[in-house]
Amino acid sequence: MNRTRVVVVGAGIIGAACARELAVAGFDVLVLDRSGAAAATTSHGEGNVLVSDKGPGPELELAQLSRRLWPEVLADLAGRTPSPHKPHELERPSEPDSPDAVEWDPKGGIVVATTAEGAEALLPFAAAQRAAGVRAETMDDDALTAAEPFLTERRTAAVYYPDDAQVQPAGAATALLADALRAGARLRTGHEVLGAVTRGGRLTGVRTADGPVEADVFVNAAGPWSGEVARRLGVPLDIRPRRGEVLVTTPLPPTVFHKVYDADYVGAVGSGAGDLQTSAVVESTRAGSILLGSSRRRVGFDDRLRPEVLSAVAAKALKLFPHLAGVHVMRAYGGFRPYVPDHLPVIGADPRLAGLWHATGHEGAGIGLSVGTGRLLRELLTGSATAIDTSPFRVDRPAVLGGPLDAPGTAEEGP
Ligand SMILES: Cc1cc2nc3c(=O)[nH]c(=O)nc-3n(C[C@H](O)[C@H](O)[C@H](O)COP(=O)(O)OP(=O)(O)OC[C@H]3O[C@@H](n4cnc5c(N)ncnc54)[C@H](O)[C@@H]3O)c2cc1C
Repeated sequence: MNRTRVVVVGAGIIGAACARELAVAGFDVLVLDRSGAAAATTSHGEGNVLVSDKGPGPELELAQLSRRLWPEVLADLAGRTPSPHKPHELERPSEPDSPDAVEWDPKGGIVVATTAEGAEALLPFAAAQRAAGVRAETMDDDALTAAEPFLTERRTAAVYYPDDAQVQPAGAATALLADALRAGARLRTGHEVLGAVTRGGRLTGVRTADGPVEADVFVNAAGPWSGEVARRLGVPLDIRPRRGEVLVTTPLPPTVFHKVYDADYVGAVGSGAGDLQTSAVVESTRAGSILLGSSRRRVGFDDRLRPEVLSAVAAKALKLFPHLAGVHVMRAYGGFRPYVPDHLPVIGADPRLAGLWHATGHEGAGIGLSVGTGRLLRELLTGSATAIDTSPFRVDRPAVLGGPLDAPGTAEEGP
């Protein structure tokens, strides 16, 4: 059995998925988080598991791998039985850990264009995806009305993606983490990584307020703070926060049946602009609330909820679902997507510091991409053949290495 000692820094969904894969493979895994399980970005976004918003390329391949893995992982979670553990070293996540908490819903997604230009962009985009193996079905107007009766009548094209799905992100992360604990991993919350312990040019430990924690391998899964964690360990990594906000309605009678979003969302995802971008992403949750998202801004770690941003998000959602005018919005929240300038995650060993690995930079897709990321990390760490080509995610690419060494995450332009 592989008893390599691994410290995973970060108990968000990426750290949880990595910890689970490694613990199941027999690694001796310790997850460290300065806060709590799923306490940061993972509980501040939505839970879409999408193939529809990715054009052909490495991120789509990772999304397709993850989409294949989700049902397999969930079946595994349901079947796993508790194993003995050392109670004094364990702290179980406070969220429920049954697969029910994951709220897996393979409901499918519908992308709707509302302008002629939107249709002109959407249909060739879907054709290119089809060529890359994505199921993408152009819908006629009657089919669209039957699928989403409350959708705007001002639509110019629509494509149905049967493989889009949804989870409850914090429930999914804590279920993955709980499974890692069952497989023998340990979790220490309230432990912040402050610096590095190195020996002979190798990372052999991380410093925390309670003393050093030693291991053979360290995985930086600190989400939007991965750049800061890397800096503390002595290497720059260009991961920046990209703010996003979501509105939540009170529970409503069934109104939105799929994951529905405006075709301009794909442009917003792919853009690196720092100023405010909004596009309608609308979906219902199991409790009946409807999530209205979302915004994209690069404003450092400024977490103020801004009225002009929330109203812009709401306005776009109403364009898609005019029927939602007048419903009650019971809360709004926001989080920081871990953004990399080339929009690709970072998965692999850091060639500058032996012992350091990264699993980060998933921006607005980390929930969906988590299980594929964990699988690739495990394959890379065990030297197995990887399910997909991981070279596009390697650490030593120009977009990633250019990170500032002294002031990561400082405010950039924005409203
Ligand atoms: C508005 C919004 C909507 C979104 N919608 C979707 C969606 O629909 N689908 C999707 O797939 N993705 C979505 N995302 C993106 C997704 O939420 C993220 O990609 C994902 O949560 C990132 O997970 P993570 O584990 O990398 O980071 P996090 O969840 O932020 O976890 C990082 C962890 O590292 C810990 N940490 C940080 N610094 C240290 C340190 N020094 N020492 C120890 N621990 C540390 C933190 O406490 C934290 O728990 C959305 C994001 C936002 C903001």
